Amino acid sequence: MIRPAAGLAALICALSWPASALAAATTHAIQVRIEPDTQQLEGSDRISFDAPRAATLLLSARFRIDSLTVDARSVEFQARLVDGLQHIKLPAARRIDVRWSGKLAPLDSSLDHRDTLTYDEPASGREGTFLPSGSGWYPQVEGALARYSVALALPADQRGLVPGRLVEEHVAQGRYRARFEFRHPAEGIALMAGPYRIEERRVRTADGSEVRLRTYFHPEIADLASGYLDSVEGYINLYEREIGPYPFSEFSVVSSPTPTGFGMPTLTYLGIAVLRLPFIRATSLGHEVLHDWWGNGVYPDYARGNWSEGLTTFMADYAYRERKGPQAALAARLAWLSDYAAMPRDQDMPLDHFTERTHGATQIIGYDKSAMLFFMLRDEIGKAAFDWALRNFWRSYRFRVASWSDLRGAFERASGKDLSTFFAQWLQRAGAPDLRIADAKAEPAAGGWRLSVTLDQGAPAYTLSVPLAVRTADGEITRRVELARERGTSVLDLPVKPLAVVLDPELRLWRHLAPSEAPPILRDIMLAERPALIVPTADASVQAAARELAAQLLERADTARADASALLVVGMHADIDAWLAREGMPARPEKLAATRGSAQVWTARGRGGRIVVLVSAHDAQSLAALARPLPHYGRESYLAFEGAQAIARGTWPTQPQVWTIAGTK
Ligand SMILES: [Zn+2]
Repeated sequence: MIRPAAGLAALICALSWPASALAAATTHAIQVRIEPDTQQLEGSDRISFDAPRAATLLLSARFRIDSLTVDARSVEFQARLVDGLQHIKLPAARRIDVRWSGKLAPLDSSLDHRDTLTYDEPASGREGTFLPSGSGWYPQVEGALARYSVALALPADQRGLVPGRLVEEHVAQGRYRARFEFRHPAEGIALMAGPYRIEERRVRTADGSEVRLRTYFHPEIADLASGYLDSVEGYINLYEREIGPYPFSEFSVVSSPTPTGFGMPTLTYLGIAVLRLPFIRATSLGHEVLHDWWGNGVYPDYARGNWSEGLTTFMADYAYRERKGPQAALAARLAWLSDYAAMPRDQDMPLDHFTERTHGATQIIGYDKSAMLFFMLRDEIGKAAFDWALRNFWRSYRFRVASWSDLRGAFERASGKDLSTFFAQWLQRAGAPDLRIADAKAEPAAGGWRLSVTLDQGAPAYTLSVPLAVRTADGEITRRVELARERGTSVLDLPVKPLAVVLDPELRLWRHLAPSEAPPILRDIMLAERPALIVPTADASVQAAARELAAQLLERADTARADASALLVVGMHADIDAWLAREGMPARPEKLAATRGSAQVWTARGRGGRIVVLVSAHDAQSLAALARPLPHYGRESYLAFEGAQAIARGTWPTQPQVWTIAGTK
């Protein structure tokens, strides 16, 4: 499985496989020689099946087949071209031998991240070679998972790898040679090479086997190697304690000359510029290491929904925030729910329909809502049962396909609870409850006060355990009340007089935030259904930079409409200040007015609660500098930039739903 690495705004069509494909045993024994200077590739492959079968080979149209035999006999074959791939249909056989050769595409390091994720040509150059698994760089058997060995040969100053165990490597006669084996059914093989410096460290897993940790880094970032190896070692130790022994014999961090990010079994492939970002080691790297348990170690049953991104996000990205403290964890949940609030409701979908990240909405459901499901589940059954369930799930499904219902079974066995309602409502339904306090009344009662709280949640009802905070003169009392209908009243007996009730102040439930709870963020305009671009200036260079910015930022390109649901207003500082005054909107926020920098961006609510995003720059060049970085900051409410560098950012505060109890104030 090749997936976009975490933490990067990514678009990819990852491949997925049906569970039935696991049954077929296919093996590749590949030898490949690559000359990055001339982009020449020569390969041979012996494909074996455990029983005779007919097969269709997929090979890129850029290669010539030099020989092809089926059970050692030459055969007549015809290649049908579909989307740049030759489809070669062969009769039933136990063994296929193929030799092929041709020229790879030249490496284009000017591609941006979006391009590299959708660009699936095998490419090579002195600075790097990347042969993606779906690119047809070797004769892939259509619809089959395969075990493999790959022996690669490169010029002596290059190093390369594929996912799997490094069996041998040496430099002789002006060539670097290395052989890798992957013994588990794999969906495809990706190959990477470059002018790498290798740093290596050997560690032992919890069950005593050896793991080889490596960095394959370009010389200009070679000094980052030991820090990355420290982090990988730390993550392996962490997840061995939480789940079980690391299931592979290697983990490598590999640098790419293009600004890309991919995760595969036993390695992650990240752009040089990405590896230089300090937060990658602290977040995305741990996420990628954890995928060797969830995703590469236990395979999701894609046809019935991909649980691996949510569980990995919960145990990596979210867990790191939780370790920083409750405020950081709350901020992470607020970010998920704010993103969800920004998502148009017609883009919502049931979580069990999520297979892979393709756009903003799939990220919000497949990663964020899914991670929140695990958070709510831990609240429901307690940490001890939760942790115990995951360890058992790992033991039972290691290198097997598992579905959401297999996960549910593990949590039910560990907790002794029937979780069918819980999983059904969060997995099979699009949407979320719209929780509101409809009424709250208090009266003196024996020994204290009796508080009646009526909650509304919209239809259809979810079965919820809703956290409430009751404010009193002596401080806050936290309680949970059960709600299984569209509207329900709960009675709480309290020792002191209640003054006010706050709904779910820690955001422990997946729900639609009320408008006051959801601070407007950039994502609101990025995902808006009918955004409009306003450029209150006649300057042509500002107009052009504004259109480019809108093209990068907005998912929907149609930006000139009268019935706009959100406004993107772009201009020079003076134009923006004048526009705000004309529209009767609040002036530039103090937080930003006091910040220097070449550009400022902030969100506000205009007439009728409509989202307005203001982009205010010093000059057209400063505006142009925002086009690339700005789409990465969807979770922010305000930013200041110096060139392309964000120098200040944050979200406007959230206002929880508070019901003041009549007659008590
Ligand atoms: Zn992931």
